[in-house]
Amino acid sequence: DTTTSAPAPKGLDELDSAAVRGFAAAYGEAPTSLWAAPGRVNFIGEHTDYNDGFVLPFAIDRHTVMAARVRDDRLVRVSSSFTDEIVEISIDDLSAESVSGWSAYPLGVIWAAGVQGADLARVPGLDLYVVSDIPVGAGLSSSAALESVVGIAIDELWGLGFDRRTLAVIGRRAENEAVGAPTGIMDQSAVLLGRLDSAVLIDCRSLETRVVPLGLDDEELVIVVTDTRVEHEHATGGYAARRASCELGARTLGVPSLRDLGPDDLGRAEELLDDETFRRVRHIITENERVLDLVRTLEKHGAGAVGAQLDASHTSMRDDFEISVPELDLSVEVARRVGAIGSRMTGGGFGGSSIALIHRSKAEALAEAQRAAFAEAGYREPVVFTVVPSEGAVRRPFGEASVTDPAIER
Ligand code: ADP
Ligand code: MG
Repeated sequence: DTTTSAPAPKGLDELDSAAVRGFAAAYGEAPTSLWAAPGRVNFIGEHTDYNDGFVLPFAIDRHTVMAARVRDDRLVRVSSSFTDEIVEISIDDLSAESVSGWSAYPLGVIWAAGVQGADLARVPGLDLYVVSDIPVGAGLSSSAALESVVGIAIDELWGLGFDRRTLAVIGRRAENEAVGAPTGIMDQSAVLLGRLDSAVLIDCRSLETRVVPLGLDDEELVIVVTDTRVEHEHATGGYAARRASCELGARTLGVPSLRDLGPDDLGRAEELLDDETFRRVRHIITENERVLDLVRTLEKHGAGAVGAQLDASHTSMRDDFEISVPELDLSVEVARRVGAIGSRMTGGGFGGSSIALIHRSKAEALAEAQRAAFAEAGYREPVVFTVVPSEGAVRRPFGEASVTDPAIER
C-alpha cells in the first residue's frame, strides 16, 4: 500500500546512523556495511521509457540507506523503518511468486540477480535494514532507490561482478516480475548512474547513457519539487492502460515501438488511429523530440533556456496523455505565475509531484504560493522542497573502512 509520507530531508550521515540503530534494534547485533541509493526526479521524458525512447532524469539529494550483515546460513531477512515486521526467506525458496508486499522489492532484486546469471547457490544469507528520506509514492522513485541499494550491496558482498547497467536491468526485472509493476528502465538508471549537478540522458532502446551537466549553480537556478500528496499506484489502472494504448498505436502503425515514429508520422497516425490512441501516440512522439531538443538547448544556451520544453511537456501530459490531476495542474500554474523558467508534472502521473526550474531567489516565494493556492482550492497541503542533482548509488564508509581513514590516523 502506498501511503504518501513526507519525511524531512535528513542527509546521508543522519540516515547512516538511523540505519545502524534500526539494524541493531531489529536483529540484536551491529551491521557490517552501509549502502546508499538516491531517489530521482525526471527532468523530462515521461512514459517514453517503455516506448524505447529518451528520458532525462537526475539523481537527487534524498536517499535510501541500507545497513547489511552477511549471515552464516542461507536466510535473507529484510526490515525497514516503515514497518515492525521482519520478512525472512531462504535464498533457495526465492521466486517471483514467493515474495510479496514491500519486501518484494529487495527480495525480488536477489531473485532477479539469479535470473540475470548470478550463481546464488553458494552465496551466504544477509540481514538487511533500510531507512529513507525519499517520500514514498511521490514520483521520486523510492522503489528504484530500494532496488538499487540492494543491487549494489549484493553485487559487492557476493562478488557478482555486474556493471551498473546490468544492475539497473536487475532492478527493473524485480519491479516488473516480482512486484508486478510494469515500469521501464529509467528509474534504476538514474539512481545508479547519476552524477553531481548533472542529468542522465538515457536511450531506452540501446540503453546507452550520457551524463549531461546541468550547470544550475552557474545560473543560480534551483529545481523545486511540489509533492501534491495525491497517491498514485503504478501496478494498476492508468499506467497499464497507457502502455496498452502505446502498444496498440505501434502495432497499428506497423512499427516495433513508438520510438520508430517521428513528427512526419503524425498525419498517418491521425488517419489510422482512434482519437484517444492518436493523442497517446502524439504525446510519445513529441515528448521524444522535446527531450532531445531540451538537451541541445541546454548545451547551447544553458539551463535558463529550457523553459519552453518543460512547459510543452506538461501540456502534452495533461491534454494528450491525460495523466495529470487537478492538483498537479494547479502546482504548474502557480509555478509559472511566480516566475518559474518552466514547470511540469514529473513521474508516472495520476498524482505525485511537479517540478519547477526557477531562480534561487524565488524558491521561497514559490513554496508559499503553492501552499496558499492549495489551501484556497481545498486541496491537501502540498510538500514543497528543493532538490539538488546528485551522485548515484554508493557504498558508505563504515566500520573497518573508517579505521584506515587518514583523518582518524592523524
Ligand atoms: P515511488 O514513486 O516512491 O517509487 P512506488 O509505488 O513505485 O512509488 O514504490 C513505493 C513502494 O516501494 C512502497 O509502497 C514500498 O512498498 C516500497 N518502498 C520504498 N521505499 C521503502 C522503504 N524505505 N521501506 C520499505 N518499503 C519501501
Ligand atoms: Mg516507483
